[in-house]
Amino acid sequence: MREYRLYIDNEFVDASDKRTFTGINPFNQETIATFARGGAADIEKAVVAARNAFDNGPWPRMSREERSGYLKAISDKINENKKLLTELEVLDSGSTIRKAGEDIYLSARNLATFAKLGLTDLDGEIEGVSKPGFSKNLLLREPIGVVAAIIPWNFPLKMAIWKFGPALAAGNTVVLKPSEETSVSIMELMKLIQDVGIPRGVINVVTGFGAEAGAALVSHPMVDKIAFTGSTKTGQAVMRAAATNLKKVTLECGGKSANIILDDADMEMAIDGAIYAIFYHAGQCCEAGTRLLLPNSIADEFVGKLVEKTKRIQLGDPMLPTTLMGPLVSRKQFDTVMGYIERGKAEGATLLTGGGKPSAPELEKGFFVEPTIFDHVNNKSTISQEEIFGPVLSIIRYNTIDEAVQLANDSVYGLAGGVWSKDAEKAMSVARRLRAGTVWINEWHLLNERAPFGGYKQSGIGREFGIDGMKEYMESKHIYIDEVGVREKKTWYDTAVPKT
Ligand code: NAD
Repeated sequence: MREYRLYIDNEFVDASDKRTFTGINPFNQETIATFARGGAADIEKAVVAARNAFDNGPWPRMSREERSGYLKAISDKINENKKLLTELEVLDSGSTIRKAGEDIYLSARNLATFAKLGLTDLDGEIEGVSKPGFSKNLLLREPIGVVAAIIPWNFPLKMAIWKFGPALAAGNTVVLKPSEETSVSIMELMKLIQDVGIPRGVINVVTGFGAEAGAALVSHPMVDKIAFTGSTKTGQAVMRAAATNLKKVTLECGGKSANIILDDADMEMAIDGAIYAIFYHAGQCCEAGTRLLLPNSIADEFVGKLVEKTKRIQLGDPMLPTTLMGPLVSRKQFDTVMGYIERGKAEGATLLTGGGKPSAPELEKGFFVEPTIFDHVNNKSTISQEEIFGPVLSIIRYNTIDEAVQLANDSVYGLAGGVWSKDAEKAMSVARRLRAGTVWINEWHLLNERAPFGGYKQSGIGREFGIDGMKEYMESKHIYIDEVGVREKKTWYDTAVPKT
């Protein structure tokens, strides 16, 4: 069994009180690892290390090129260890091996992108704020300080990298708390980072639980910024904790994204797209297409084919390349999803397929939920409004495009959305009307490292990726340099200063 300790100030250490917790494989419930169970005392050590690295260490002061070199070296290490990281991600999270392989590849690529973006000089002169000869005005971008990063379990390594890349490229130091469900790949990453020889205290990881390590981290007075990804409910608690000393906050939270099929869509492609949108990673994606909006004119035919194809999704051992859907991450998540399915039935939606645990004996020990489709769902019902985070699709039928847009936007969330149509102009006009941070036209899930990703409404605050994402980890400083130079010619000479 693997044993992992906290990573603080470039060293692997036990929790102060020596407590540990275990991680299990959600496919067979076997224990695969033990982790140090970090608490407030460990957060204290990690934050002090990050603070010291920021205030006194070389990291914020070294050249962009030098920092970038470290990020590229970590990215290369991830690529070199792709096989191991992929397999561990499968064992730890229940992710299929195909999805885990993509995640590790994209993690390395994302970090390499931030190694490049980190070279960008964002400082400069601000023109036009004063008459020439009066003043010169400079804009400097500086790191914020110590960043507390909190991440969920659905894309473990990838979520860690999404924080490390922009935070480090901008010159900050970081304390990361991974999800208690999935810390294996991140602790393996720390071994690679230790090899790279990044300066002391720049990256620290404290494994543990949200109510202990997480709460202590986000309320720590020496933390300057919180970068959080997780549920909206936890995001609200994080924001409250941040208020005590006005920490800067970015929140990447939940979603309930609407996938709108227009009546002229390529039906076969849209069916595949709808399946990918909801059932990829068993629905455990913040941007999943959980509400399928179908025009009444084509709904019966679309639904018939969709259900037939959904029944053919191969559930199985996530380590096998033939498996299309693995188990949910934990018993807790399994119970939550099953609870929502019961709620859907009780609220009168029509269950078309799925709705339970699969009966195959080889899946017995895994936290599997069948791909589930409800039809004739009321958009006001619980399964249309709340984030389920499992393989459960709500179909809502509509008559007009105006109605579809109104239904799509009738949500407290606004993370993503999608439109399927052969008419580019029509699709674009719908895309413009959706209140969501990312909208796909004839596509789903695909993100771009240089394009902003984040949520409208209760899906979050701020954006990840690209230069916008890096600026979320920077302060803007204005330096005003006087060019008048002569005491009597100052604009304020006659205003407030007594003449002697
Ligand atoms: P969660 O909110 O339960 O936990 C997220 C993290 O917060 C975990 O590390 C947890 O330990 C920690 N935490 C819990 N309580 C805390 C507290 N009081 N203070 C500080 N930290 C605390 O979310 P989850 O169940 O792990 O992940 C699923 C959620 O993540 C979904 O809502 C999903 O939409 C969201 N998510 C969003 C994005 C995005 O980019 N918008 C991406 C992935 C996941």
